[in-house]
Amino acid sequence: MKIEMFTVDDLPLIRDGDDLSGMICDRISPEDGDVIVIASTIIGKAEGAVFSLDDVIPGEHALQIACSNGKDPRFVQAVLDRSVEFLLESPMMLVQTSNGHVCINAGIDDSNVDDGLLVDLPSDPDASARNIGIGIERICGSHVSVIITDTNGRAFKIGQTGVAIGVYRIHPIKNWRGRPDLFGNILEITEEAVADEIASAANLLMGEGDGGYPVVVVRGSDLYTDDDVAIGEMYRADDEDMIKKGLRCLAKL
Ligand code: GDP
Ligand code: MN
Ligand code: MN
Repeated sequence: MKIEMFTVDDLPLIRDGDDLSGMICDRISPEDGDVIVIASTIIGKAEGAVFSLDDVIPGEHALQIACSNGKDPRFVQAVLDRSVEFLLESPMMLVQTSNGHVCINAGIDDSNVDDGLLVDLPSDPDASARNIGIGIERICGSHVSVIITDTNGRAFKIGQTGVAIGVYRIHPIKNWRGRPDLFGNILEITEEAVADEIASAANLLMGEGDGGYPVVVVRGSDLYTDDDVAIGEMYRADDEDMIKKGLRCLAKL
C-alpha cells in the first residue's frame, strides 16, 4: 500500500477575497480521490477574518478573566466573542467554539499574519471546505475531498499536531466496529479518526513557520465519499465527554 503527499508550491501571501480553489488549480492537477489539506490560517485570510485588537473593547467579564490569567483584556474579549463555553480560563483559555471545536484561544492566531494583526478560524469550516471542494470540481473537473486543519495541542502529551476542523467529501471517522481482527475477533469499539490522521501527516509538510506551504495534497487514500459529511461527526456528545465534565467540576471549586 502507498499514500503519497506533496505540497502546493509558490502560493503567495493570501489576502481577503483570494480564490483559493483557482490558486490551487493553477499550480497542480488534482486527481479524483485526492484529499486537499488546507491550513485554516489561509482560509481565515481569504475570508477576511483578520482583525486588530485595537478594534476590540473589553467588557466586564473579559476584564475579570484577564485579571486571573494576565492576558490582554482585548484578546480575552476576542476569545469570549468566539466561544460558547470556557472550559479553562487560566493559565490558558481552553474554549469550545460555536461549531463544537475545543481549542486554546478559540483558535485565534498571531503567527503567519501581518504584524499586530490576528486571524480567526473560519466561522463555518465545513462550509469553507465545501466551497473550495466545489470550486476545484468546477475548475479542474476532479472529485476531491477537502480537510481544513489547525495546529492544536493535545491533552496528556507535549507537542502540537495538525487536526481537522472542517471536512468535505470525507468522513472524519472510520468505523471499524463489526470487522474482524487477525484472529477473527469482532472489533467492538474501534473508531479511527482518519481526518485527524491525514491532517497531522499533512502538517509534517506544512510545518509551523515561514515555509509557505499551507496546502498539501494527499493522494492514494480510499477515503473519498459522495456523502454529506460534517466535522461534528467526530465531536463527542457533551454528556459522554468525561474530560469536559471534569473541567466543569474543576471550574466550580
Ligand atoms: P495553522 O496551522 O492553520 O495555524 O497555520 P500555520 O500558521 O501553522 O501555517 C501553516 C503553513 O502555511 C506554514 O507553512 C506557513 O508558512 C504557511 N502559510 C501561512 N499563511 C500563508 C500565506 O498567506 N501564504 C503562504 N504561501 N503560506 C502561508
Ligand atoms: Mn492556527
Ligand atoms: Mn500550524
